[in-house]
Amino acid sequence: MAVDATQPYDDQNIFARILRGEIPSRKVYEDDFSLAFHDINPQSPTHILVIPKGAYVSWDDFTAKASDAEIAGFVRAVGHVARDAGLVAPGYRLLANTGTHSHQEVPHLHVHIMAGRPLGPLLA
Ligand code: IMP
Repeated sequence: MAVDATQPYDDQNIFARILRGEIPSRKVYEDDFSLAFHDINPQSPTHILVIPKGAYVSWDDFTAKASDAEIAGFVRAVGHVARDAGLVAPGYRLLANTGTHSHQEVPHLHVHIMAGRPLGPLLA
């Protein structure tokens, strides 16, 4: 079910539980600010989620509240994961859903990295 991205952060959301180690994930990268892991229900051959370690609901919440170091660290982590996975030459798509119209399901900011096949026009 899509979430209302204006709600306060819910520390029981599934990605908060992954960050606390309460739920396993297939981790691909971690640093001080970020964690990346494979999506449990991949929509493309490569489908990785990158999340900040801080408690932010959405991109909007993150850019309003996070420190410059967190923002820079997170954006760099997304690029690092894509490079490290060998996605630059074939190409990849970044996607960050916010709120009900985008069908955001998990109320902890995440960037989808999707790749591994031609993805077509965004709104196809
Ligand atoms: P959203 O619609 O942008 O919020 O995307 C949420 C994503 O999280 C979906 O692609 C789900 O498949 C994925 N997801 C949900 N639970 C888990 C999990 O436990 N591990 C990894 N991915 C998950």
